[in-house]
Amino acid sequence: MSKTFELTRGQRAAWVAGLLVLVLVSAAVVFGLTNDSLREGQGSPLAREYTTVSDGDPGGSEAAFAEKFGQEGKASTLVLYDKTGKSASDGELYAVATGNLVTHFGTAEIKPVADYADNAMSAYDAVVYIGTDSVANPPEAFLDDVLTLDTPVMWVGENLNAMSGGQGDRAASFREKFGWDSGETQTVSSDLLYSVRYNDRDVARYTDSVETVESPVVGSGDSVEVLASAQCRKDDAPVSCVADDADGAQDVPWAVRSKNLTFVSEIPLDYIDENDVYLIYSDLFYGLLAPDTAPVKQAAVRLEDVGPESDPADLRAMADYLQGAGVPFQVAVMPIHIAKTPDENDWYGLSLLDRPEIVDALKYMQDRGGTLIQHGTTHQFGTGDNPYSGRTGEDYEFYRFGCSATAQQPFEFGECENTSYIRQIGRVSEDAVEQHKARIEKGRQVMIDAGLGEPEIFETPHYAASPNAYAAMTEVYNARYEQSDYFAGILSGEPSEAGRAYSQHFPYAVHDIYGSKVYPENLGNITEAEQNNHATRDPEFLISRAEAHLAVRESTASFFFHPYLDINYLKETVEGIRGLGYEFVPVVELQ
Ligand SMILES: [Zn+2]
Repeated sequence: MSKTFELTRGQRAAWVAGLLVLVLVSAAVVFGLTNDSLREGQGSPLAREYTTVSDGDPGGSEAAFAEKFGQEGKASTLVLYDKTGKSASDGELYAVATGNLVTHFGTAEIKPVADYADNAMSAYDAVVYIGTDSVANPPEAFLDDVLTLDTPVMWVGENLNAMSGGQGDRAASFREKFGWDSGETQTVSSDLLYSVRYNDRDVARYTDSVETVESPVVGSGDSVEVLASAQCRKDDAPVSCVADDADGAQDVPWAVRSKNLTFVSEIPLDYIDENDVYLIYSDLFYGLLAPDTAPVKQAAVRLEDVGPESDPADLRAMADYLQGAGVPFQVAVMPIHIAKTPDENDWYGLSLLDRPEIVDALKYMQDRGGTLIQHGTTHQFGTGDNPYSGRTGEDYEFYRFGCSATAQQPFEFGECENTSYIRQIGRVSEDAVEQHKARIEKGRQVMIDAGLGEPEIFETPHYAASPNAYAAMTEVYNARYEQSDYFAGILSGEPSEAGRAYSQHFPYAVHDIYGSKVYPENLGNITEAEQNNHATRDPEFLISRAEAHLAVRESTASFFFHPYLDINYLKETVEGIRGLGYEFVPVVELQ
């Protein structure tokens, strides 16, 4: 599991980092970088403010987050997880990820299954149980209520065999109620399962996250609905799923439903950047919580990393194209720019207030359907390389990262190379909620003072922050527009730890455990070069990701684009996404 999280994190950081070269090139074009006289903003109060940070460990406490969160007044879901054994922190992260998803439909309340009391589920619209430890035994009260009550239950992963033991003849009751045998499964090698068939779509499955999948045996005459079936393939041809029978079935049930029980045969929350069965999982909640939801196909686009050193001509060109194409858009604004002087001996700082021509271009964008959002305050932290250069737009702002020569622990942190892996190091030295809040408000005030209005949405630089930083964002903003990191311990109150975090993208809007609405960005961005072990992403790739998201009933295709890239990439992507039937809307209208 830790391996899983690290890979997911690294992949995501990497495609953001892939832009480093481009940023440097564009900066060199804008400023000849040859003048050795004092640079504008060099040693300015702004430069001093953001390059003077305390050293060492942050200390202090970390924010606590309530086990119940989401939108009140709609469907309520109880999420139960196993807090025991070696998979306990994985169970917590899976529960948080699942809780975040179900807030699309209302509230989530997350509890260890050991705390389950008689009849507790009858107070909720639905229950999700996440079984992470194959040898765990859920409490009798929970098992009995699944059998005797009508509350819809989604059982994910391990421990269904517990229904075959215990007091009375629970196995017989299970068979009688649900029409299949909880103790009977077929073991299928995971490396055969490349895809899962769901609502007439073949959804890609990542084969390396587990070794085997235990598929339920439901029989043909049973009153069980197969919601999704996994296809067995080898060398691109269908094969038997049964190890010792070449003539056996070439697909197996992956998710089934009968009466109030939906069973999903694995926890589809690993490697979600490429494991699209996560999208099936996300869609199954409609059946559980909102079966009458009308399908929609909505798209959103955000122009990224716009700040004092952007080229106003690029910004106007993007706005002209998007308005002409009838595409509402978002602009991620970095209010303050901090960077080393060309001789690397000093720092300079500029805000939007020093760049009226950028402010004019931003107003031009607003007049043409652009919604400005705040994208950090400096998009870097202090004077260190975090991990690249300390320069705005390149570095992380709300968590420390390094360049490692190794993908997995033990990490070997050093100079950033093209082949490095970007990995979490720890909290920044100024990690108190109040420090983050002051920083965020400072950037926000710059946007307001520049006459750009009051931004209502925040986006975390490089999608990474500490729990305290997320808590601070929630104090200033009601909404974020991004993917986010969730740390083990945010429920149990344990200190957060580098590498023990889950990074999640969303297929639809949610209200996450940090207490904020989160608008999804789920396709990524265009990159022109391979870097930090992440492949180049062209328009065709983003369009293929939009197509994958059609597996979700309220399909969302949300991506971002850097305005210094060739505008034809943007046009191609917009047209391709529209070709799939998506309609571009302002991000606040995303379902
Ligand atoms: Zn950024």
